[in-house]
Amino acid sequence: MQKSLKIAVVGSGLVGSLLAIYLKKAGHTVHVFDRSPDIRNMVFSGRSINLAMSDRGWKAVDAVGIGNEIRSIAIPMDKRAIHVDSKMNFQPYGKDGESIYSIGRGTLNRKMIDLAEAAGAEFFFEQRIWDITLSTATLHIGETERGEWTDLKYDIVFGADGAFSRIRHRMQRQSMFNYSQEFLPTGYKELHIPANADGTHKLDKNSFHIWPRGNYMLIALPNLDGSFTCTLFMPFEGENSFESLPDQESVERFFEKKFPDSIDIIPNLTADFFRNPTSTLVTMKCYPWTFEDKVALIGDACHAIVPFYGQGMNVGFEDITVLSGLMEKYGDDWTTIFEEYQELRKPNADAIAELSWRNFREMSSSVADEKFLLQKKIEKWFSEKHPDKWLPLYSRVTFSHRPYSEALALGDGQNAIMQEVMSLPDIEEIWNSPEVEKLMLQLLDKSTF
Ligand SMILES: Cc1cc2nc3c(=O)[nH]c(=O)nc-3n(C[C@H](O)[C@H](O)[C@H](O)COP(=O)(O)OP(=O)(O)OC[C@H]3O[C@@H](n4cnc5c(N)ncnc54)[C@H](O)[C@@H]3O)c2cc1C
Repeated sequence: MQKSLKIAVVGSGLVGSLLAIYLKKAGHTVHVFDRSPDIRNMVFSGRSINLAMSDRGWKAVDAVGIGNEIRSIAIPMDKRAIHVDSKMNFQPYGKDGESIYSIGRGTLNRKMIDLAEAAGAEFFFEQRIWDITLSTATLHIGETERGEWTDLKYDIVFGADGAFSRIRHRMQRQSMFNYSQEFLPTGYKELHIPANADGTHKLDKNSFHIWPRGNYMLIALPNLDGSFTCTLFMPFEGENSFESLPDQESVERFFEKKFPDSIDIIPNLTADFFRNPTSTLVTMKCYPWTFEDKVALIGDACHAIVPFYGQGMNVGFEDITVLSGLMEKYGDDWTTIFEEYQELRKPNADAIAELSWRNFREMSSSVADEKFLLQKKIEKWFSEKHPDKWLPLYSRVTFSHRPYSEALALGDGQNAIMQEVMSLPDIEEIWNSPEVEKLMLQLLDKSTF
């Protein structure tokens, strides 16, 4: 327990509501503000995208005893199901039983707010924060930006207000504050695969389905009600782009040609396509993340990443794990807690941003590439023979708690080894031979990573 403080969390998203639980458990008074109405009373949550929760996320929810509540609304996915040429092949994610979990964002957020309220946090919805005075941790709340504001002073404020954070916006006006933002030329749109009449799933429900097609792809994640939430990722402009699909006929023709096995299972294709927005994807980096012992950013507010490693929420939850460890270590010394928090997290946030960007290339093109599949097969074979020497990069990111920066560095080293292995003549025939095993062991011995 720390000395009890009055703490505000701006943002009742996934990270803000989990942080509220941690802060309550540490003995603080916690007020959570969100500009939106209470998501629990809304029929449509805004972005109903499904999220993949993996080990880092589970660790954070398990540590405050809510893991099982969350598991009850999640579906394990132990493999990718790759749809190419109307055929499907399966690629297991990790060792037996290792899975990522599909959870509806709205369902999860509602549950997290319920749990945070049960822990004693107070929520204030439809309360937009327009500004903050950093030196006194005072929030400025009001109906409009130019109207009258109410000032609310706290001991500490956490900005968990997402990629376009207002709290960060104020910090950006400080000297020596670094900030960058980069939009992908690719956007996304949600589509829907309904359940069968008997409530069962139309596709294998324990798979993360991918239709990789070069610079665009369709994915589908299972829901508890038998449906799947699909996301179409595609460039905004050019050939095979959102721009190239202006009307019903072009969308139908495109799906018939490019995703023929999806036609029967997405019955409301064109209605969904033209009703649902086309959304953007952004990588945002900034530093520092804290101001004295008064204000700290957390989650997407300090590191928004593209979603192709399924880690955005997981890295935000890991921020909380690390912060909580520092709270235990340093007690009431918030200056040191905040200093160490940002120093520990920043390199990892940058690493997962880079890995996520790279995984976009992998998911959209390489997963259907013969050479890539062979490389993955060799890595899997070798890591089963030498689990102490070789953990595939995906497992390091998804099924481990080691730093993302370590995963990035080791992954680069492993990739260099694999390039040598893949350049062997007849690698297709000799891929699981003692010769390849010996070479990999030698290269590993020589490596510096
Ligand atoms: C298409 C897509 C797929 C994704 N898939 C995955 C995945 O598979 N796995 C994964 O781990 N992550 C995934 N992510 C990332 C994940 O959604 C985010 O990292 C996560 O939601 C961030 O949570 P957050 O609480 O930090 O921010 P947010 O969820 O953005 O919440 C911010 C909250 O702050 C509130 N707010 C904003 N401004 C103000 C203000 N001025 N005043 C008051 N309140 C304010 C907002 O209303 C909102 O409730 C995905 C993201 C996208 C876009």
